[in-house]
Amino acid sequence: MSYKADIVIIGAGVVGLAIASEVTRQGREVYILEKNEIFGQEQSSRNSEVIHAGIYYEKDSLKTRTCLEGNALLYELCERNGIAYHKCGKIIVATNALEAEELEKLYRRGRDNGVPLKMLSRTEMKELEPNIKGISAFLSPTTGIVDSYSLMRYFLGKTRDNGAQIAHKTKVIGIEKAVDGYKVVVAELSGHSSLLTRVVINCAGLYSDRVAEMAGINIDEANYRLHWCKAEYYSVGGAKNRLINRLIYPVPMDISVGVHVCLDVNWRLRLGPLFYYVNEISYKLSDSRKRDFLDSSIMKALPFIEPADLQPESASIMAMLQGPGERFRDFIIEHEYNRGLPGFINLVGIETPGLTSSLAIARYVSHMAGEIL
Ligand SMILES: Cc1cc2nc3c(=O)[nH]c(=O)nc-3n(C[C@H](O)[C@H](O)[C@H](O)COP(=O)(O)OP(=O)(O)OC[C@H]3O[C@@H](n4cnc5c(N)ncnc54)[C@H](O)[C@@H]3O)c2cc1C
Repeated sequence: MSYKADIVIIGAGVVGLAIASEVTRQGREVYILEKNEIFGQEQSSRNSEVIHAGIYYEKDSLKTRTCLEGNALLYELCERNGIAYHKCGKIIVATNALEAEELEKLYRRGRDNGVPLKMLSRTEMKELEPNIKGISAFLSPTTGIVDSYSLMRYFLGKTRDNGAQIAHKTKVIGIEKAVDGYKVVVAELSGHSSLLTRVVINCAGLYSDRVAEMAGINIDEANYRLHWCKAEYYSVGGAKNRLINRLIYPVPMDISVGVHVCLDVNWRLRLGPLFYYVNEISYKLSDSRKRDFLDSSIMKALPFIEPADLQPESASIMAMLQGPGERFRDFIIEHEYNRGLPGFINLVGIETPGLTSSLAIARYVSHMAGEIL
């Protein structure tokens, strides 16, 4: 069977759902195609759930711009719609002289990005977090945490209220150019079928480079090929969550923000993510990397956590544009008109801070789609 849509969104993670909730406002015919049984089973439900402030990335990058805008929009949305969140703030702490130098640079970068930050004196640090150890630190009051599942449920509800269709267990396996748009071929339980659509929005997360390839893009020439990075989280037992009041982060010494304190909206305490590149998607976990957790910089700042408190908890995979040792890459959010694909919008490499940025990305992409239709 062949259906006709204005917009097809591939992928029901937080970004696809946020975009769907935005583009359906104008009464368009929108379909969301999701290969899994339910929404949000990949990066969007396996992350740190931090509402980032916009400290880390280059000033004019899409990451910084959408993070800053998304941070404010997300707090407002959660407050208005009863989605659980805490604007708990975070402290980034240096535990040696080298980290202290980097902390200063990070503080200046964050301020330059327009993020409210406060350098802390030793006394202030002790007042806010009596149990952490460090030689210097700053506070980011606009960092927080959100219940990502409730957020996705909200977007999904809004999307359905606006009349969009979501098809689960529906995997996109081909994209062909049609007269006025695209024919999207899918594999469902009942076999193969297709949809005709004027606009395609690729929000396929870990597979977004492959979906771009289906549309005919040479992903190596375009520099769209993704690398998969496994992330491990360890739970912290022993009621140690009572010993901190907010998120605690190390000074990042490479491209990742570093293993840090994760709290969920119920104040469950975890450490992570510990990242390493992989070639397959597997969420299997053992305690083989416990040593790396124990050696991580954040452990020096949290002397009350003992080795026996740490247990492997969960794993995730992140879709990264930068391979091992490569430098910063920004989100790719492109209308592929110049590649001969009018009406095809690619979102590739939407890693951290994609959850925070989701609402801002949704507005940005909705505007792009509006110009096409
Ligand atoms: C370990 C980790 C920690 C993170 N921490 C944070 C954080 O604290 N704060 C923050 O702001 N961000 C964080 N992020 C980033 C954030 O989680 C992601 O940016 C965001 O979830 C991306 O959402 P998405 O919808 O683009 O992708 P996904 O959630 O991966 O969703 C993509 C969807 O596309 C579907 N799909 C793929 N291929 C097809 C196909 N062919 N046909 C149909 N469907 C398909 C998948 O099944 C999936 O449901 C973190 C990410 C990771 C991995």
